[in-house]
Amino acid sequence: DELSNKIAAGEVVERPASVVKELLENSVDANSQWIKIELEEAGLRSIKIIDDGDGIDPDDCETAFFRHATSKIEDEFDLFRVKTLGFRGEALASISSVSQLTLRTSTGDQSGNELVVHGGDIKDKQKHTKRKGTEIIVENLFYNTPARLKYLKTIHTELGHVTDTINKMALSHPDIRFECYHNGKRIFFSPGNGNLLQVIQQIYGKKIAQNMLQLEDDSLDYKVSGYICKPEVTRSNRNFISLIVNGRFIKNPVINKAIFDGYHTFLPIGRYPIVILQIEMDPYLVDVNVHPAKTEVRFSKEKELFDVVKQSIYDVLHKQRL
Ligand code: ADP
Ligand code: MG
Repeated sequence: DELSNKIAAGEVVERPASVVKELLENSVDANSQWIKIELEEAGLRSIKIIDDGDGIDPDDCETAFFRHATSKIEDEFDLFRVKTLGFRGEALASISSVSQLTLRTSTGDQSGNELVVHGGDIKDKQKHTKRKGTEIIVENLFYNTPARLKYLKTIHTELGHVTDTINKMALSHPDIRFECYHNGKRIFFSPGNGNLLQVIQQIYGKKIAQNMLQLEDDSLDYKVSGYICKPEVTRSNRNFISLIVNGRFIKNPVINKAIFDGYHTFLPIGRYPIVILQIEMDPYLVDVNVHPAKTEVRFSKEKELFDVVKQSIYDVLHKQRL
């Protein structure tokens, strides 16, 4: 019902960036090759996401807005076993309960649908001609939850969070083409040709991309790859470490420590590295917290993972210095 949707929305939808995250995950899950994001006022006025993915079947358009109608997961330990990023079936229900949302979608082989949902109520439904893919417009976020609206920070801060979300998505999906516009101006682009270094260049600039070292290493249970920066281009704060486990962005202090230990004497005092680390592993080796938006995870063979990350970083830096 509407109340439980609003309550759930408080957990899933904190700010414009959380809407962008959920919608992007849906587009990725729908096998999109390109995804376009258009924001007005950092997404507070409007967030529009267009993709060329599978689209939603006409019969499923309304159910997509029911909470848990689509839950693909039995318990929290399934998280890293499910192939899709979404699994709780509550993002669309939550977002549409605190905004004015328009969905246009087509699977390509029949005429598409348009659905308008305001504050959780379906306002309008009609046929819509459109090529294969989905377009979702979220307007006036939190218009009916003033308390939440008050909690939001400046446009500048909110845009920072949105950009961060898009960067993470692009880094974990170099094979998808992302485009983002803010108030009509293009603010991000990634080519979608599978080249991670090119995504890094779009986010951090050419100078940094040219000073990244490629990393590739295996242990018995873990396969690590990605890019780490040379000591010359390290940063003055620690927000430049990206950890991607089986295609999902995560946070983990143990891996962070392994990275710092790997850099050890290579890191100038007070400097922090830029690292994009991808780790592939058997999903059974990772545990995740129950909370919907949690990105903190625990690894069951922590010591082995710590060692392989530390060693591979050290090796790459050491080799470069020789
Ligand atoms: P979840 O992603 O956890 O299943 P959501 O509420 O995010 O739940 O989405 C509900 C459902 O709507 C999805 O399972 C999917 O079937 C459909 N859907 C949402 N967005 C898209 C999209 N961009 N393309 C295709 N299907 C979508
Ligand atoms: Mg989802």
